[in-house]
Amino acid sequence: MERADLRADCANCFGLCCVALPFAASSDFALTKDAGQPCPNLSQDFRCGIHSRLRERGFTGCTVYDCFGAGQKTSQVTFGGRDWRADPATASAMFAAFPVQRQLHELLWYLADAQTPAVGEPLRTELAQAYAETEALTGLDAPALRALDVAAHRAKVNVLLTRAGELARAAVRPKPKDRRGADLIGARLRDADLRGVNLRGAYLIGADLRGADLRRAELIGADLRGADLRGADLSEAVYLTQFQVNAARGDRATRLPATLDRPAHWTD
Ligand code: SF4
Repeated sequence: MERADLRADCANCFGLCCVALPFAASSDFALTKDAGQPCPNLSQDFRCGIHSRLRERGFTGCTVYDCFGAGQKTSQVTFGGRDWRADPATASAMFAAFPVQRQLHELLWYLADAQTPAVGEPLRTELAQAYAETEALTGLDAPALRALDVAAHRAKVNVLLTRAGELARAAVRPKPKDRRGADLIGARLRDADLRGVNLRGAYLIGADLRGADLRRAELIGADLRGADLRGADLSEAVYLTQFQVNAARGDRATRLPATLDRPAHWTD
């Protein structure tokens, strides 16, 4: 699989994130709906009827979400292009398979990211094997996906990701502080040198990271909602996702890895 296969391709998806997932009315979603209930803004052709006005209509969460390519995989591979409207008998199985596929695709994203130049043997081979194994799981049929113990697989892969992350950060000297899981909500980190810092699972909600240097910082699971990344350097950040970037603020001066896009809602 290519990196492009690990990014949402809404044109080949049956609007699964707009149907399968539950929403609670909040600052991210203007309405409440149950899992399996189509969003009222979803058109018959599975396009969003308010795509260009999502933020102004109170659906900020929709501009942040990324399925890691699980939507098109579930639609076109698991269900062979049969959509839940034309074939309602597929609906519940499709909506149950989608979240599992998303977790698997997210793991594939991290496993691809883990293969930095810092990783040598035997870890490189172990990462490649884990990637192949995870990719094979994405090819399971719907009942097998539903029965899959994805948490156990995730835990196994996480051991490798942790080792690869340590190696990616190891070259930074002096050894930075470990801020794993740190509460950095609203922290003032403007122009901070955060190179190689372990920010795994850190809470960076609303943090001021303007101009910060986050090269080689490990960001898996870090909560960047509303973080100010204007002028920050994340070009070599480890385990950064489009979902995290979309949830943050940034500008033209923010440096991102080549695998990620600059969000359309970022201002200059
Ligand atoms: S508002 Fe649009 S993108 Fe968001 S869930 Fe509804 S149809 Fe999908």
